[in-house]
Amino acid sequence: MSLTCRTLADLPVEGLVVLLRVDFNVPLDDAGAIIDDTRIRAALPTLRSLLKRGAKPVCLCHFGRPKGQVVEALRVDVIGVRLAELLGSEVVKLDESVGPVAQAGIEGAALGSVVLLENVRFHGGETKGDDQLARDFAALGDAFVNDAFGACHRAHSSVSGIPQHLPSAAGLLLEAEVDAFRGVLEDPKRPLVAILGGAKVSDKLAVVDALLDKVDTLLVGGGMAYTFLAAQGHSIGASLFEEQHLDTCRGALKKAQERGVELCLPVDHRVADHFGADALAEVCGIEIPDGRMGLDIGPVTQAAFAGRVTQAGTVVWNGPMGVFEFEAFSEGTRGVGRALAGAQGLTIVGGGDSVSAIQQLGLAGEVDHVSTGGGASLELLEGKILPGIAALSRD
Ligand code: AMP
Repeated sequence: MSLTCRTLADLPVEGLVVLLRVDFNVPLDDAGAIIDDTRIRAALPTLRSLLKRGAKPVCLCHFGRPKGQVVEALRVDVIGVRLAELLGSEVVKLDESVGPVAQAGIEGAALGSVVLLENVRFHGGETKGDDQLARDFAALGDAFVNDAFGACHRAHSSVSGIPQHLPSAAGLLLEAEVDAFRGVLEDPKRPLVAILGGAKVSDKLAVVDALLDKVDTLLVGGGMAYTFLAAQGHSIGASLFEEQHLDTCRGALKKAQERGVELCLPVDHRVADHFGADALAEVCGIEIPDGRMGLDIGPVTQAAFAGRVTQAGTVVWNGPMGVFEFEAFSEGTRGVGRALAGAQGLTIVGGGDSVSAIQQLGLAGEVDHVSTGGGASLELLEGKILPGIAALSRD
């Protein structure tokens, strides 16, 4: 797929009601307060641009998993309040996302304000990609802008349905995401290095396979590395292991060899005798003794991975190198994060826990792109066509 979307600059919006799909699915604490408003902040440039160009933006978002029911705790009022604070403009929160109440609310909102519709997942049709619901959303506006990269891998009514019925474009955030991944997937500056980590090898096998067609070097750390090491005949003690994927790991190792891709696995580890925040870290070589589990890459691996990152023309990173939530097993992930921050090449951190790690390190500003979409970025790297992006693609 060519990653080319119609962009906001291409779309006439002056004086129009512009439906804006955003990813405002923010985490809340037990008292219902927003813990992290990064996703709301990420939509501000597009909202400001729409307001400046004289459009009336109407935001659509999902929030949690209400499964087609109205769930009081999943109304988006708390998001509206934070959005108004961040934007410094009035936000008119409506209690519906389709129909006459929404229509009247949009008409009544003053120019210069932003409308926020209710959680789109209160409608069961949303996650089914129901076309009538997409038409009902579309009936509320004159144009559609998608800025919800984190939802683009979903063929949902408010993501890929609305653009079938309205002139549409990518917002500034989605455009930046697509540009960043285009830098990896289409004619990247070489060497192209990918770093994969995280707990489960099963979640990442498809992306490993796809990346082996593209990268020069693939660095594998985290819990997913142990099934690969077992496939090579190493002892992995009590480390994470998915026996049913041994053959696929063997296949990936063979494919790497055939393609001349350097696939680097850990050559040493930080291990513990149990899984817990109180566990003490010991360093061991490539073989993990019985009764020990690998919870982080070791210092030799860390230095080797950092070296590959430093020399890369392009680096993309998805998944921590160990159980970074535990201080004693965070060093491998930190080391990779620091290497990325100091690298000369194009550096992209793709979603989820690697983003939390780079933020915890205070290094998010030092990499070229921090993706807002974990699942979406993995699917892009797998070479999948994301329905939300395909719906905006230039023909
Ligand atoms: P994922 O969602 O697959 O990217 O996995 C992220 C999770 O993987 C984090 O919560 C890490 O604590 C966990 N993880 C990384 N390395 C290991 C490991 N060696 N053993 C157990 N869990 C790990």
